[in-house]
Amino acid sequence: MDYQKYLQSDEWRNKCIAVRDFWDNRCAVCNSDINTHVHHRTYHNIGHEQANDMILLCELCHTTFHKIVNPLSMFDQIAVMLKGIPR
Ligand SMILES: [Zn+2]
Ligand SMILES: [Zn+2]
Repeated sequence: MDYQKYLQSDEWRNKCIAVRDFWDNRCAVCNSDINTHVHHRTYHNIGHEQANDMILLCELCHTTFHKIVNPLSMFDQIAVMLKGIPR
């Protein structure tokens, strides 16, 4: 699956809208509504995500998470997942 293409699909856009709605367009960590991003909690169901596979994070929390908790870039994680390399 082409993840970059997926991120531009209507399907993904609709999922993002649902996540933003659910979180009231606020960061799940700090409640900020500035520059929110939809974050994947897991990439296991990529392409057919369940509602709770994603959360909304503000830019700061999102960047912090990816820097500190999980330093692999999103695209590296996807690449790893698509190759099925065990973690
Ligand atoms: Zn935040
Ligand atoms: Zn993320």
